[in-house]
Amino acid sequence: MKKTAVKRKIIRKTKNAAVVGAGPAGLTAARILAEKGHVVEVFDKRTTVGGNCIDTVNSDGILIHNYGPHYFRTDSRKLLNWLSKFTKWRPASYTVKAEIDNELVSVPVNLNTMIQLTGDVFDQADFKQYLKLHQVSIKKIQNAEDQCLSTVGGELYEKIFKKYTQKQWGKTAAELAPEITARLPLRFDFDERYPREYFQLLPRDGYSSLFSNLVNHPNIKLALGREVFARDIRALKRHYDLIIYTGPVDQYFDYKYGCLNYRSLRFEWKTYAQEYKQPCVQINYPDRYDYTRSVEIKHVTGQRCMKTTVCFEYPTDEGEPLYPLLSEENIARNHQYQKAALNERHGTTPVHFIGRLAEFKYYNMDQVFLRSMNLTKMIAAKGK
Ligand SMILES: Cc1cc2nc3c(=O)[nH]c(=O)nc-3n(C[C@H](O)[C@H](O)[C@H](O)COP(=O)(O)OP(=O)(O)OC[C@H]3O[C@@H](n4cnc5c(N)ncnc54)[C@H](O)[C@@H]3O)c2cc1C
Repeated sequence: MKKTAVKRKIIRKTKNAAVVGAGPAGLTAARILAEKGHVVEVFDKRTTVGGNCIDTVNSDGILIHNYGPHYFRTDSRKLLNWLSKFTKWRPASYTVKAEIDNELVSVPVNLNTMIQLTGDVFDQADFKQYLKLHQVSIKKIQNAEDQCLSTVGGELYEKIFKKYTQKQWGKTAAELAPEITARLPLRFDFDERYPREYFQLLPRDGYSSLFSNLVNHPNIKLALGREVFARDIRALKRHYDLIIYTGPVDQYFDYKYGCLNYRSLRFEWKTYAQEYKQPCVQINYPDRYDYTRSVEIKHVTGQRCMKTTVCFEYPTDEGEPLYPLLSEENIARNHQYQKAALNERHGTTPVHFIGRLAEFKYYNMDQVFLRSMNLTKMIAAKGK
C-alpha cells in the first residue's frame, strides 16, 4: 500500500471524541479513548481538572480538599493498578467521630459507639439483642425515617441520624428516600475505620497531581472554562464522532422534564497556629451548630507543619450541585431523563452519560472510575 493510502486509512480510523466534564468520570473516559487512538477534547466549565476531587495548597501552606474531604477507598485491585500509572500512594486511616451530648462517639455505629452511648459493655450478641428490642417493625419502608427506625430503632435514630439528616438535607428524614440513610452501615465489631474497603489510600502528591498526570497524553486537548449548554449539543454532534457527557442530565435536555435538585455546601476554612486542632480527620455534629461537620484533612494527607486548617461545612440549597436530592419527585424526573439519555446512544453521533451528575446518583470516586473504565472500554471495542 502506498504511504498516502496508509495515512488516509489511519485518518479514517481515528475518531474525534468530545468529553464534557473533567471529573473522574470524564477524565477516565478521555484517557482510555486517547490510548486507543481517539483524539479527545475535554470541556469543563471550571478551569481545573479533577472535578470535585481536587486539592490545593492554601495561602497558609496547608494542602486542603476544595470540595469536601475525599477519602479514597476501593476493593478493586484492577482500579488501583490502573490509577497507579498516574500516582504513587500513601496509606490513609480515616477515623470519624460524632459529637453527641458533648462527647465524641465513634461513627459508623459500632460496638465502641454503643459502649460510649450507654455506658454498658457491649459485645456482638448484646448489640444484636439491642437492635431486636429497639427496631420498629415497618411493613413497607417508604422513606429514610422508616429505614432508620426499622434498622437501628428510635433511640439511635434520635441521637445520631434524625437531626443530622435534617441539617444535611434541609428536609426531614420522612421526606427523603430510604437510600439516603441506607448507605450508613452498622458495625458489629470495634473497627473504627470509617470505610470498610480493602484499600484505603490517598494519592501521595494529592488528587490534583493525579488528575494532571491522567490528562497528560498527546491525544487529549483541554478546553477549560467552557460550559456546555443544551444549545451547544447540536454543534458538538456535528464536530465529533462520539460524546461522553458527565454534566447534569437535566441541563443537557434543557430541563424539559423539570429541574433535578441538589444539596450543596458552603465551606468555611479556618487556620490555627497549632499542629492539630481536633483528634481525628472528621467530626460530625448532629446537635450543635449550623455546620454539619468539621474536617481537618491534615490528619490524612500526612503534611508535617505547625499550622493546620479546619473546614466547616454548612449545607445549603445554593451553589455547586454536590449531593443529588433523592426526593420522590426528583427520582421520578430522573427516570424520564435516564430514558431520554439511553436514546442518545443510538444517534449518528452517540452520546454516553456517565457519572454523578449525568446519572443523578451519588457515587464514590472508585465507583465512578470503574463505571467509566468499563463503559469506555466497551465503547472503544464497539467503535461507538
Ligand atoms: C462533599 C463531598 C465529599 C465526597 N467525599 C468522597 C469520599 O470521601 N470518597 C469518595 O470516594 N467519593 C467522595 N465524593 C464523591 C466524589 O466527589 C464523586 O464520586 C466524583 O467526584 C464523581 O465524579 P464525576 O466525574 O462524576 O463528577 P464531578 O467530580 O462532579 O465532575 C464533573 C465535572 O463536570 C463539570 N461540568 C458540569 N457541568 C458542566 C457543563 N455543563 N459543561 C462543562 N463542564 C461541566 C464540573 O465542573 C466538574 O468538573 C464526595 C462528594 C462530595 C460532594
